[in-house]
Amino acid sequence: MKVRVDPELCQGHTLCAMTAPELFGLRDEDGHAYAHSAEVPPELEDKAREAARSCPEQAIVLS
Ligand code: SF4
Repeated sequence: MKVRVDPELCQGHTLCAMTAPELFGLRDEDGHAYAHSAEVPPELEDKAREAARSCPEQAIVLS
């Protein structure tokens, strides 16, 4: 599974980094989220899906 954050959609709500800090961080500059790695380890796939569901902007793209 791959993950990325769409910077156009992300509004910096922080929910993803609270739900899955192993997968997401927030940039100091603009407060927007980024994925630590484009590749989601198998054991974190459920968390990635949960974070994507919880993002109010649907900015987390899984593929
Ligand atoms: S929950 Fe969504 S909008 Fe909020 S910081 Fe994460 S990716 Fe951005």
